[in-house]
Amino acid sequence: MKADRGVVWTILELLRWTTDYFKAKGVSEPRAAAQVLLAHCLGLERIELYLQYNKPLTAEELASFKTLIRRRLTGEPTQYITGHQEFWSLDFLVTPAALIPRPETEILIEAVLEQVQQPDSPLAKGPVLDVGTGSGVLAVVLARTLPDPWVVALDLSATALALAQENARRLGAADRISFVQGDLSQPLAPGPTFALIVSNPPYVPTGDWQRLPRETRDFEPRAALDGGPDGLAVIRRLISTAHQYLLPGGLLALEMGQGQAEAVLDLIAQQAAYGPAQLRRDYQQIQRVVLVRRSEKA
Ligand code: GLN
Repeated sequence: MKADRGVVWTILELLRWTTDYFKAKGVSEPRAAAQVLLAHCLGLERIELYLQYNKPLTAEELASFKTLIRRRLTGEPTQYITGHQEFWSLDFLVTPAALIPRPETEILIEAVLEQVQQPDSPLAKGPVLDVGTGSGVLAVVLARTLPDPWVVALDLSATALALAQENARRLGAADRISFVQGDLSQPLAPGPTFALIVSNPPYVPTGDWQRLPRETRDFEPRAALDGGPDGLAVIRRLISTAHQYLLPGGLLALEMGQGQAEAVLDLIAQQAAYGPAQLRRDYQQIQRVVLVRRSEKA
């Protein structure tokens, strides 16, 4: 980059240069990444870049932008550099303590809300359990959206819980969520307590690890992704135990990976406590979410 003393870069020139540079280096979504990083660096919204496109950068701004470019080139996800990711039209903080929220996970929320919003749904009042809350997206969105919610958000990671708690506070949901360190087996006492159990568990088969993009493999927490040899280790445990915590008629909603639907339906069919399961596809037509009710009979 011609960053020598005396050479002045405007916002527009820098966006063009960075987009081309990212493209040449194989960075995904090069234009968006350039915009998001430059806006972050200058403390602007993305749209404001274009309202001030002729504005020259100071030498300090240019130097700090170059640092961000270098970080992105190591594979660090844009979201960890800026510390933000939008989910369900809300601004969530993200750190390497938790997975970056994905658009697929919004499908899980849509599917759950469809069921909850049916007339006379016994699910509407909760309580809700989010297993492996990570950045807290499921817990926070459900706490903000359900009519009278009480949500318990579990995570094994204390740093993830702290992040989720901060997101809940910033998004006005903290008084409706209890954050608890643990997973389904501890420290919850068994007993039918919850109307809804939701989870985006780790489900990537260990053998697929090397095939993940380096943004994920080298930067996101492995505990949030690696689901054991067949990817189903945590899902299997959730399906075999969640019914003990669900009220009769209560709903279990899980995210899962490509090609796992058949095995997941089998796991559900092995448990007499569940009714028939439903699947939902994501934007790429991959079966991504499974929903199942605990039977009304105890
Ligand atoms: N969808 C994520 C990925 O492809 C995986 C999320 C998960 O394991 N819960 O990286």
